Amino acid sequence: MAGTSLLAAACKRLEGKVALITGGASGIGECTAKLFSNHGAKVVIADIQNKLGQSLSQKLGSSDCTYVQCDVTNEDLIRDAVDKTIQSYGKLDIMFNNAGIVDDPSYPSILDTEKAKFERIMGVNVTGVFLGMKHAARVMIPARSGCIISTASIASGIGGSAPHAYTCSKHAVVGLTRNLAVELGKYGIRVNCLSPYTVETPLSTSFVGLTGAEFEHSVGLKSNLKGITLRADDVAKAALYLASDDGQCVSGQNLFIDGGQTIFNSACN
Ligand code: NAD
Repeated sequence: MAGTSLLAAACKRLEGKVALITGGASGIGECTAKLFSNHGAKVVIADIQNKLGQSLSQKLGSSDCTYVQCDVTNEDLIRDAVDKTIQSYGKLDIMFNNAGIVDDPSYPSILDTEKAKFERIMGVNVTGVFLGMKHAARVMIPARSGCIISTASIASGIGGSAPHAYTCSKHAVVGLTRNLAVELGKYGIRVNCLSPYTVETPLSTSFVGLTGAEFEHSVGLKSNLKGITLRADDVAKAALYLASDDGQCVSGQNLFIDGGQTIFNSACN
């Protein structure tokens, strides 16, 4: 390969790859869609926010990015999103199960946690991830390759940082990831999840009730790494690492993107 082509290949770490990103219209998913696209991937954004999703796909270029309306709790819609990805771009290399909700800005006691709300969070954060994994596996197994990434949270590794349902749902994402990494490894499919610390997105600002400088001061700068505020882009970069050949030996892992916060908290408590 000539010098310039080698450089281009190094710069475009997902050239020739196809990615499907749930919850891709906003926050971490949006940053990841942009980063994957900049690295040469064809991207399908699956979300329920049609205006945002369509406008992002137009920005990324209609031949390289497609938006599909998809509620991840509905198996028919997840199946369709995977099938549309294959129809549009011929294959699915990277499934990013990122859609998630937190729902309740308070931390209700177990006594005040309503069953319906608990099930709603579990529906999006667990059933949605399970369905994404299942339908990605359906097309990746015959292809004998693929990479599945899901977004968990620091709440997957500690207790008391979020409402019960959210903590429970993110622990479940890790369990699904580990099981599937074992089951799909023989087909050359890698399965991992990401556990971000709080980064500023519509989900976290609605939960924390602050934005911009106030958010940064109250949440971002309190991370263990002094002077460094974690951002949605940092989570997207970790997804890029796992999705690219750089992460080819990594499977079954829960990668914390938390500036050391989780280990810092456990050391202090
Ligand atoms: P966000 O609200 O900006 O993005 C979430 C996206 O998921 C939205 O576009 C939303 O429309 C979509 N979505 C919600 N329900 C859906 C459904 N049923 N079907 C399809 N799409 C649906 O929030 P974000 O912070 O970017 O969240 C992305 C993921 O990161 C979530 O799984 C969240 O739990 C996780 N996370 C976020 C943080 C944080 O601080 N922001 C920290 C840890 C983990």
